[in-house]
Amino acid sequence: MGTCMICELRRTAADVRGVGWTSQHGPDGAVSWICPTCTRAQLWQIEAGLPLDEIRPRATRHAA
Ligand SMILES: [Zn+2]
Repeated sequence: MGTCMICELRRTAADVRGVGWTSQHGPDGAVSWICPTCTRAQLWQIEAGLPLDEIRPRATRHAA
């Protein structure tokens, strides 16, 4: 089910049904997830359309 790409919080079955997580689609089609806490923290950057690489470079270290 994945983990938060920013803080690596595990995404649980309950989270899958919830709406708090934000999905991000990378250029290679991979889907990354951001937990509600990080979504709130990074919301302005996400809405500004900034590449997530610039939000947290380490998040891409093991992409795919
Ligand atoms: Zn997080």
